[in-house]
Amino acid sequence: MVGSFEDFKLNKQLLNAIDEAGYEKPTPIQQKAITPILAGQDLMGIAQTGTGKTAAYVLPILMKLKYAQGEDPRALILSPTRELAMQIEEDIAVLGKYTDLRTVVLYGGLGPKTQIENLKKGVDIIVATPGRFLDLYLAEHISTRSLKFLVLDEADKMMDMGFISKIHRILEIVPRKRQNLLFSATMSDLVHKIAGDFLAFPTIVEVDVQATPAETVSQSLYYVPNLKTKLNLLQYLFTDIDTFNRIIVFCKTKKVADNVYSFLVRKYDEEDVRVIHANKGQNTRINSIRAFKEGGIRILVATDVAARGLDVSDVSHVINFEVPIVIEDYVHRIGRTGRARKSGEAITFCNPAEEYYVQKIEKLIRQQIPVKEIPGQVFIEKTGFEERQAIAREIDNQKRKENPDFKGAFHEKKASNDKARSSKNLSNRSRGRAGKKRIGRKK
Ligand code: AMP
Repeated sequence: MVGSFEDFKLNKQLLNAIDEAGYEKPTPIQQKAITPILAGQDLMGIAQTGTGKTAAYVLPILMKLKYAQGEDPRALILSPTRELAMQIEEDIAVLGKYTDLRTVVLYGGLGPKTQIENLKKGVDIIVATPGRFLDLYLAEHISTRSLKFLVLDEADKMMDMGFISKIHRILEIVPRKRQNLLFSATMSDLVHKIAGDFLAFPTIVEVDVQATPAETVSQSLYYVPNLKTKLNLLQYLFTDIDTFNRIIVFCKTKKVADNVYSFLVRKYDEEDVRVIHANKGQNTRINSIRAFKEGGIRILVATDVAARGLDVSDVSHVINFEVPIVIEDYVHRIGRTGRARKSGEAITFCNPAEEYYVQKIEKLIRQQIPVKEIPGQVFIEKTGFEERQAIAREIDNQKRKENPDFKGAFHEKKASNDKARSSKNLSNRSRGRAGKKRIGRKK
């Protein structure tokens, strides 16, 4: 077993940078992955964000590329999102500080001019999202002939985001002889498939039992009947400023993220809250993430995609304002808190249509998430007509997914069903509170 970074026989430049970054010893994924990568093997690493997986492939790549050479890239690292790409570039900058290796990061959402200029200066490592990489390749700004390393980071997310055909296209245009590395938080069927297409006799290393949340994160669940009540509960929790001091609120969609953001901005100082999602301009997102990292803002509202790769170490609370549909995202989300052995709390708000996903999550993490009662001070709103319909429709879809013969109570017995559903689908816990007038209403 490798005990220290010296054991890898990394060069002095890298050891100095590691030392300055404050890494004392290799994390488990680094212990397992660095030696085989240095030995030239293809590798599949199953590791979540927060395990040190980036340095696990960046260090051996920096070691093997050694110094700036020629014009064309020798390593290509593909990331599903710009945020992760930026994070990877940052890690390369930290660890490659004492080398002269040149890294260019490429992602969409802004004009390619600067990126093209950077490429023209000569490059050793490209970190890119697949779409922008292909665009610039097809426009002949990139030559792939010198590529020796190809990395797919967060391969599961790439598959979820539908990048499979772009990845295949990229595999067609890179030299055959190269070293391939694939990292993924989970091992889905699609990841398995792409790994088969991509890796030759790979070494497989895995850390942590798949999808096990860190023990430093305490989890809890509130059954909340509707969106407005979720907002009231959020407001109630956030009155405890000392405890809830650095929070990420996760939403499934941009629309809900914007709603939650507008609600919070009305309650708190505008400087305390930011929102990030795919429609936000690139600079806004970068600034928001930076401000949040530096502690300048208290609450960050985010969608899953926007928060990918976001590395913030001491988040006090992760609030799942909506339960994620891609259930592995639950583990990713709550991994933002309780990092670096600090304790953190992950709180999930679940409406009747989301109970289905909570059950799947509990199966995945092999834990029951402890349920908490909605505090008496929180006003329980009535579920509006549209939301009631949407919830009923969603529950019908879930039943149909589980049982294809299910006819769909919603469509057939719409009127009577709506009535029944509005009471039946409220969990007993949340229903018991209805009617009590509390804080949480907009003043
Ligand atoms: P990652 O899983 O690559 O997103 O890394 C998560 C965080 O762990 C990043 O902030 C890294 O800088 C940090 N990190 C990586 N390797 C180590 C290490 N050996 N010791 C301490 N921190 C590390």
